[in-house]
Amino acid sequence: MSGGAGAGARGARGGVPVRDALDSALVALNAARVDTPRLDAEVLLAHALGADRTALVIDPEREVEGPAARWFRDAIRRRTVERVPVAYLVGRKGFRHLELDVDPRVLVPRPETELLVEAGLELPDGARVVDVGTGSGAVALALKHERPDLEITGTDVSPDALAVASANGERLGLAVAWVQADLFDGEFDAVLSNPPYVEEGAALAPELSHEPRAALFAGGDGLDVVRRLVERARGVATLAVEVGEGQADAVADLARAAGFLTVAKRPDLAGIDRVVVARC
Ligand code: SAM
Ligand code: GLN
Repeated sequence: MSGGAGAGARGARGGVPVRDALDSALVALNAARVDTPRLDAEVLLAHALGADRTALVIDPEREVEGPAARWFRDAIRRRTVERVPVAYLVGRKGFRHLELDVDPRVLVPRPETELLVEAGLELPDGARVVDVGTGSGAVALALKHERPDLEITGTDVSPDALAVASANGERLGLAVAWVQADLFDGEFDAVLSNPPYVEEGAALAPELSHEPRAALFAGGDGLDVVRRLVERARGVATLAVEVGEGQADAVADLARAAGFLTVAKRPDLAGIDRVVVARC
């Protein structure tokens, strides 16, 4: 038979062993130059089988057949040809200690955004916190999970995003208030935000075309939303904003101009200044 995901020696029931299914998927993923071919193959196959990744290692002879084989083949096609992010294919993404449901109504939460949660962990007892542009609810929910004493609101302009966030909150049993708003309304002690910050017209990884435009783009220099957010946050005790590569100095200047007295930049694991924390 011709190559492609799922090709290999056919088992007695028409399936292929896990090992062969992974190998042929890897050929396709490598050829498509996705960033993390082995991880993607394992996460997708584990999902297809309703197992976890260690189960694949423990039992490489397990047969992949029937609906699982068909789902896996289709997922590898969508990953390699359409460049759909793995998180949308499996409908889940890990963030801090939580597993969040995600779909194309919301940005896939990124590991570097966990820095915003870390900034939130430093807040005083009982602080009123707003996560502006909450998307899947990642920051708001992870912070509530780790600091139940905080009073947390998640806002978004997108009602679709809020539907995803509130469903995550309900499923995880985490009490966050969800509010549709441009930026935020009302009084808070801290504003945390991963706003859209990509420059309009920037060359992007093909995966990003599957994510909501309103979650990514913010004008010619990517700072349209941040500029308004920093102004709106004037007088708030703590502001922590995620920024794009090369934007931290400009955003720190905006925060100082808005009257914040101490302004610090925090690097992500790649050494890129990723979060600006401002206090007044
Ligand atoms: N906080 C989530 C995360 O980190 O995974 C999602 C961040 S995503 C980069 C930005 C989010 O901000 C999107 O959900 C988008 O709909 C929302 N957004 C864009 N402009 C906004 C505005 N003016 N006010 C509130 N939310 C906004
Ligand atoms: N982290 C996203 C990227 O991959 C951008 C998210 C955002 O605009 N906040 O570029």
